[in-house]
Amino acid sequence: MSASVTSSSIAANGDGALHAAVRELLIAAGVTYTSNRHAIVEVLLSAGPLTLPEILHERKDLAQSSAYRNLSVLVETGVVRRIVHDHDHARFELDEQLTGHHHHHLVCSQCGLVVDVDLPMALEQELDRALERVATRSGFTLDGHDLDIRGKCTRCCAPVRS
Ligand SMILES: [Zn+2]
Ligand SMILES: [Zn+2]
Ligand SMILES: [Zn+2]
Repeated sequence: MSASVTSSSIAANGDGALHAAVRELLIAAGVTYTSNRHAIVEVLLSAGPLTLPEILHERKDLAQSSAYRNLSVLVETGVVRRIVHDHDHARFELDEQLTGHHHHHLVCSQCGLVVDVDLPMALEQELDRALERVATRSGFTLDGHDLDIRGKCTRCCAPVRS
């Protein structure tokens, strides 16, 4: 898989350019951009990390078995990223390479909800500088980082109603 996309141009050109970039990635892998795959990308474009049941809820015309198969294809081709945390279903989101939106995840340790969150630019730069030193010490070159933030969501913090 050698197709690469420039995130800045995609961000500037909106959804049309994103779909074009998805098509490019799929073609490079010998895969067709079918209407069902297009529908899944569309759903993921409009929301944060979703589980398969949540995707099916958004698009009731998608059959579960084919949606699952199409998601797997999108993950294999690097269009979609599969996010897995300890206790819940896998969640899916468009790869940062396509959206050009570097971000982190707030994870609820109780119900498994995952919410996208941006860190201040200054903190990102500080993180990269510190991680660069850590990586270098072990002979690594830093490519990037994944960092999850754990806590309890508002619903899990709310007092139980009787
Ligand atoms: Zn929660
Ligand atoms: Zn995310
Ligand atoms: Zn970051």
